[in-house]
Amino acid sequence: MKIAIIGAGYVGLVTGACFANLGNRVYCIDSDRKKVEALAKGRITIYEPGLQEMVKHNLGEGRLSFSTNIKTAVKKSDIIFICVGTPSKDNGEANLLDIENVSREIAKNVDSYKLIVEKSTVPVETGEWVKKTINAFRKKNVKFDVASNPEFLREGTAIEDFMRPDRIVIGVESGRAKKILFELYKPLNAPIVVTDIKSAEIIKHASNSFLATKISFINAISVICEKAGADIEKVAKGVGLDRRIGRGFLSAGIGFGGSCFPKDLSAFIHIADRLGYRFGLLEEVEKINEEQKARITGKISQLIWNIPGKTIGVLGLSFKPNTDDIRNAPAIDIIERLLRQGAKIKTYDPKAMQKTKKVFSGPDKKKSVIFCRDAYETARGSECLLILTDWNEFKELDFKRLKKLLKQPIIIDGRNIYDPSEMKRLGFVYTGIGRHI
Ligand code: NAD
Repeated sequence: MKIAIIGAGYVGLVTGACFANLGNRVYCIDSDRKKVEALAKGRITIYEPGLQEMVKHNLGEGRLSFSTNIKTAVKKSDIIFICVGTPSKDNGEANLLDIENVSREIAKNVDSYKLIVEKSTVPVETGEWVKKTINAFRKKNVKFDVASNPEFLREGTAIEDFMRPDRIVIGVESGRAKKILFELYKPLNAPIVVTDIKSAEIIKHASNSFLATKISFINAISVICEKAGADIEKVAKGVGLDRRIGRGFLSAGIGFGGSCFPKDLSAFIHIADRLGYRFGLLEEVEKINEEQKARITGKISQLIWNIPGKTIGVLGLSFKPNTDDIRNAPAIDIIERLLRQGAKIKTYDPKAMQKTKKVFSGPDKKKSVIFCRDAYETARGSECLLILTDWNEFKELDFKRLKKLLKQPIIIDGRNIYDPSEMKRLGFVYTGIGRHI
């Protein structure tokens, strides 16, 4: 099939590369000229395991191309996937301006039947707006369909998630649209859930909100564990082995972040409100998440006393392992909080250093945040070590060496990656989330 992908970010690029790998001809469009120039040379601008190789391979095979020219891509394609960003406005509502702009561009260039698919995460009723926009701005009176096909991939395992999804959700209004999407996804051999467009839009927001709720739920339980002297890891295991509940997303930590959960949660709260329902449950999920980040800085002062002027070692910056994405990463928020309290930061992350350097590039912050070569350089002269992302390489460190390098042998484990009794045996003052030694 001939496919246009509009927006070659995390989702668009993975979607485009995977569809090309399945044998389709894919035209990837992005308005960012620099990004397109790099991609056309096979250089990807994000870190995602396996993606670089897949993009290069399909460029070489002539199945994948990159351009800023939406006009040609629309004309040449049968299916057009909208994959642009839907960030939060200041009030938390979804900003759908890029979706509108792309819809207008598509409308101006449709010259034969097209299936226009929203893959970006959007509030319910966006499909209606896309349809209205295409109708209002199309130059030729050609038939088209709009469909919703929300994406569930996770950064860090994006290719695997795309190729072997738990389910594919398609929201359609015509048999023709359904047939095309079934044909397109046939090689994946995955369960397909067919709904109307509005239900598909809600499935995405509801899924992300539910997962965020699980995280805040276990984080709230972790507070009770700390107060009572219980161990959240054991509690989560005991709860999660119940198949009705499941073990996934029951890891207590510093709270959820990333480019999806925080924005989707607040977009869902807003759309619910607009539709006349106050989603108090999700408001509380957000509140618990914020408190969790504040709690970690509280733990630091409990262990090192005054924060101003002290150097804190931070391991991990990306919002989760195996990605360089720092959008809404709890680590960035926690570093900002510590800087505001007068701390100096030494930090290391295997993949997210470059992006983080841009955040802390202002003259004041530049002096206060030192980027290190590895965990050991981070520990040297730091008052304590803070684990904020559970990268595998942090799980196996030379703790004897770390202990010698730190000013005090203190580890604050925001991801519960270490065994508290082992840390105690090694001579560390150790604190995790919701657990006692
Ligand atoms: P992103 O910011 O990485 O990518 C968006 C891309 O769209 C950018 O490269 C931008 O330059 C481009 N763009 C913006 N306006 C454009 C225009 N008018 N024409 C062409 N290109 C344009 O965002 P992302 O992380 O890929 O997310 C995209 C959507 O997918 C969002 O709605 C997000 O919520 C959803 N989503 C993301 C993930 C994820 O893990 N990142 C997972 C599932 C769903």
